[in-house]
Order: sequence, then C-alpha cells, then structure tokens
Amino acid sequence: SEQLVDQGTFEHLPILKKIAPSSTGPRVKGKVVIVTGTNSAIGIGRASAHQFAQNGARAVYLCDYDDSNLEAHQREITSLYPGVDVHTRQFDAADEESVKKVVDDALKTYGRLDVFFANAGIVGQPKIFTDVSADEFLFTLRTNVVSVHLAAKYAAPAMMITSAEKKYPSGSIIGTASVAGLRSNAGSSDYSSSKAGVISLAQTVAYQLAGTGVRINAICPGVIQTGMTKMMYDAAKERGTEKKIGQLNPLRRGAHADEVARVALFLGSEESSYVNGQAWAVDGGLSAGHPFVP
Ligand code: NAD
Repeated sequence: SEQLVDQGTFEHLPILKKIAPSSTGPRVKGKVVIVTGTNSAIGIGRASAHQFAQNGARAVYLCDYDDSNLEAHQREITSLYPGVDVHTRQFDAADEESVKKVVDDALKTYGRLDVFFANAGIVGQPKIFTDVSADEFLFTLRTNVVSVHLAAKYAAPAMMITSAEKKYPSGSIIGTASVAGLRSNAGSSDYSSSKAGVISLAQTVAYQLAGTGVRINAICPGVIQTGMTKMMYDAAKERGTEKKIGQLNPLRRGAHADEVARVALFLGSEESSYVNGQAWAVDGGLSAGHPFVP
C-alpha cells in the first residue's frame, strides 16, 4: 500500500489519517446532539441520549411531543454525566417550526450542531391495508418520514455553518427507519411505507449533500423491547407465546434499546466518517434471510 500511495493512487489517504478517530478518547467529545423521541423510559431515544452523554457530548437536547418524563431523564443524565448540558424541548418532530426552533437554539447557544438523531416515530395497530384510511396513512408518513426530512432540512445547513470553521467538515444526521422498511411486514402498510421512505430519503439526501461533509444514514431496528412493542410483548405474554418473538430471530432473543443506541453513537461519531447514505439493520440478523426453519 506504501507503493500505491507513492504512485498517487490513494493521495487522499494522508488526509483521512488525520481525521481518523482515536479509539481511546470520548467518541463524541464536545459535540452538540439533538435526539427526538426521548420521552419513552424504555425507548431508543432515551438510551441514545445516555450513550451520547456518556461518550463526551457537550450538549444533548431531549425532544418529544410527550414531555411527561423529559425532566426526569434530564436530571438522571445530568447526575450521571455532570459535564453535559441537557436540554428538554416539548416539540412535534413533524412540525417545521418546532424543528427549526430547536436547531436555531443549538446554534445560538453553542454556535454548532454536530448530530441530529431523528428517532421519533409511531406505529398503529396491525391492520389489513384495506382498513387503513388515507388520513391514518398520511399521519404515519408525517410522523415517521416527514420528521426525518425536516431534521435533514434544518440540521444540514446548521452543520455546514459548524463545518466551515473546521479543517475537516463533519456532521451526522441519523433517521430511525426499521427492518419493516427493508422487507415485507405483516403489520401495517403505512408503517412499512414510511420506514422505506426514511431509507430512500437518506440515500437521496446523502447525494444532495455531496461535498458538504455532512452525512446522513438510516438505522433499521428489528424487534426491540421498547414502548412501541410493549403491547405486542404484553399480548404475547398473555397468550404464553412471548418466547416465540425471540425464537424467530437468528440470535434467538429480542433486543434492548441500548443495542440500537450504540449504533446511533457510532453513526454520530467520527468512527463512521466514511459511512453515508446507508440503511443499518440492527436486528440480530432478522432481515438477513428467510425465516423458514424446517
Ligand atoms: P417508543 O414508543 O418507546 O418511543 C417513541 C417516542 O417517540 C415516544 O417517546 C413518543 O412520544 C415519541 N414521538 C412520537 N411521535 C412524535 C412526534 N410527532 N414528535 C415528537 N416525538 C414523538 O418506541 P421506540 O421503539 O423507542 O421508537 C423509536 C423509533 O424506533 C421509532 O421511529 C420507531 O418506529 C423505530 N423502531 C422501533 C422498533 C421496535 O421494535 N421498537 C423497530 C423498528 C423501528
């Protein structure tokens, strides 16, 4: 490879070496991070806020339309990681003004925005597509994919301002999609369409952001034990079929929100500096193949 560098084939490599992250230091040191969908006590958003705070973030914004737990989460994170500024915002992830306001707040307070994790989302009861009204469908699209569009629309320019002051520009937008956006989903056509939309949005926006240094990726969780799946787990428990949920997975278990949050941390850090426009399945292998077991 030395020879290839001498030949100029990889002349960009010395630059990449300079921005290669240290695996020993805090992974998101000094970064200003917005996470949406953080109210749920067992959700992916709260777990991610912990990961960013624990790994050196300067500030973390906890945003959710339901703010009943936000202050408790703020107190908890502040007491565990005293160096981090934790802010709470009651906001609708799919409302343009709300998203613009939190991004403006971050810029005004810190002069920078480094990570926007657009994680808020909803799922309705599983339904046959003929029973899904146009209004329901639009509501799901609005919450699950318009929210990621708005995050990218306002975060990317803010990250570019931040980037202009840096030698090597960076900035990371992350949207929560789902394995339901990658493969067929027996549950709900509105949900899977919205999550496929998040993946497509990330792919397209990654290209449109070319040259800015800002990256965008989608995370595709499998079946994770959170507020969203609680009803499913509770119903399965009542039927005595709870174990079956894990048994369908190649790892033979379900997952905790933290297992998704650690991937969000990776995508928000410089460790993923060359990862862009991708859909990251975090599903124990569920989407890797056909679930049929003879
Ligand atoms: P959760 O229900 O525990 O958390 C979702 C949070 O989003 C809640 O706190 C809710 O109040 C918030 N929210 C919903 N609509 C909002 C809006 N318009 N504005 C602001 N906040 C809003 O569920 P979770 O599993 O942690 O969900 C996080 C993300 O992960 C969602 O996008 C979901 O679709 C996705 N996901 C979850 C699973 C899973 O198995 N749990 C699988 C695939 C994808």
